[in-house]
Amino acid sequence: MRESMPGETTGVSTPSLVLDVIRTRGPISRIELAAATGLTPATMTNAVRHLIDQRLVMSVGHSESTGGKRRELLDVNPTTRYGLGVQLGPESVQVVVANLWGAVVGRIGVAGAADADPNDIVTSVTSAVTELLTATSLGDGLVEGLCVAVPGPHDDAGAIVDTPGLATLEGFPLRSALEAATGLDVRLESAALLSAAGEVWTGAAADSRALAVIHLDGELGAGIVVDGRLVRGSRGRAGDIRHLPIDPAGPLCRCGQRGCLAVVGTTDAIVKRYHDEAGTRLTADRIAARAGTDPRAARAIDDAVAAFSRGVVAFADVLDLDRLVLSGRGYGRLLDRYLDGVRDHARALGRTNLVVAVSANQRDAGAVAAAGSVLRDHVDAR
Ligand SMILES: [Zn+2]
Repeated sequence: MRESMPGETTGVSTPSLVLDVIRTRGPISRIELAAATGLTPATMTNAVRHLIDQRLVMSVGHSESTGGKRRELLDVNPTTRYGLGVQLGPESVQVVVANLWGAVVGRIGVAGAADADPNDIVTSVTSAVTELLTATSLGDGLVEGLCVAVPGPHDDAGAIVDTPGLATLEGFPLRSALEAATGLDVRLESAALLSAAGEVWTGAAADSRALAVIHLDGELGAGIVVDGRLVRGSRGRAGDIRHLPIDPAGPLCRCGQRGCLAVVGTTDAIVKRYHDEAGTRLTADRIAARAGTDPRAARAIDDAVAAFSRGVVAFADVLDLDRLVLSGRGYGRLLDRYLDGVRDHARALGRTNLVVAVSANQRDAGAVAAAGSVLRDHVDAR
């Protein structure tokens, strides 16, 4: 049974659980709901009544009669609540508004956050939010709040920490500054964790017992879901796979070790290696375009994909995962190379139960999930 979604560390209340099942399996009857949630009919009936009162769920007709009584079918009412999501990356910042189905109804991209003044970021995000709400005519009371998907870890005070790609934001009170500027409730969540939640939330990973999203966008991170629960760890930093030691003879990492996954396995690693060997600084996409003719390009890519595959399949082994999902813009044109690399490595090791896939929301999984998680957290708060 699925129980937990973003922002919830201590289980989930009944209406949230019921809404979640309706959202992923609807239209659905009360009897099917009871079977899917394991709740007693009385508890389930109360939860459904609460959701209908909140206009979050509506009746959408009846099932065909199969000899017995026709059953009323329930589905989410997608137009009563919206959430805002911001995916904050060094190269790009996406602001989206999504409805209860997780469908994006508006989207604006603003300049990336690398080297930007924190106050400028707050200003551009706030303008984008205003523009989106105006363009979509979403007035007061329809938007529940804003969740910022951050590429790396954040602290309890709502500041980004330990994220070299967003060095200017390090320690800046992003959450409170955005709350003051937008007047909305604001939350920070790891993009990797949100992507993982999004895989569950959109039903893409319905059969999975234990999955991880390997998210690459500025930073590398994993978001883990086991038995429907987001795994956060003791400090909220579970899934920080950046410093898994892969190659003891590899380049020095800022953490003091050599050959960490982040410095040998990512597209940034490819860029740096190619620069060191060829003397030219190109993007990973441009290096990929040269791989057919430039052996240094081909080798940099092959070695990074091999290192990445070793790291993430070992990580999957530790958690006994049945699904690994690649998500985030950082893979660029090399996404298929990484996908094939991980699949081949898993197959070579006999991990036949491990499904390796690309996220359903490859472009901005974090932003979509951010919008969804805002909605979800507020279901029971009123
Ligand atoms: Zn390291």
